[in-house]
Amino acid sequence: MTTALYPGSFDPVTNGHLDIITRAATLFDKLIIGIYSLPLKSLLFSTKERVELMKKAIAHLPNTEVEPYSELTVDFARRVNAQVIIRGIRMSADFEREFEMALMNKKLAPDIEVICLMCSLQYEFLSSSLLKEVAQLGGCIDDLVPAHVAAALRKKLSPIAVVKRGDKATK
Ligand code: ADP
Repeated sequence: MTTALYPGSFDPVTNGHLDIITRAATLFDKLIIGIYSLPLKSLLFSTKERVELMKKAIAHLPNTEVEPYSELTVDFARRVNAQVIIRGIRMSADFEREFEMALMNKKLAPDIEVICLMCSLQYEFLSSSLLKEVAQLGGCIDDLVPAHVAAALRKKLSPIAVVKRGDKATK
């Protein structure tokens, strides 16, 4: 049985991530989505929220699980008995960083293979950070994330959106 780990910040999960998850779930017996709790970048959603949003998004995929983690990704992979780490690659944004990380992971854990799946064309431009920026400014995000994620983003970002709209009157 081959278990794969798809690690990331998922702040929040997007349809681009879900595309990778859906495809990886068909390739491996079990897919664990690891939600990294301590990324260097600043987060909008807490670890608990990111886990809940992911759990709801993948509830229809029976061979998937979601777990938060805070150790080195390769140590977490060993802890959950994953032989493979999955990453997604967008043409413009990811190759160099993913290559660097894959080589570092290979050095730390030569027994774990890193497999990168190319993103689907329609999600090439989609990142969690850009998504948050668009949502914050009131742009339509409905076809970029599941409905419950769009609702969570609106709820989190609504005070800022209101202030922005109110701004107009004072300037
Ligand atoms: P990180 O793990 O670097 O904090 P994310 O949580 O956003 O980044 O993404 C997790 C993984 O999903 C990374 O491998 C990233 O390259 C990939 N990814 C992000 N957005 C997309 C997308 N739109 N399509 C495919 N893969 C993506």
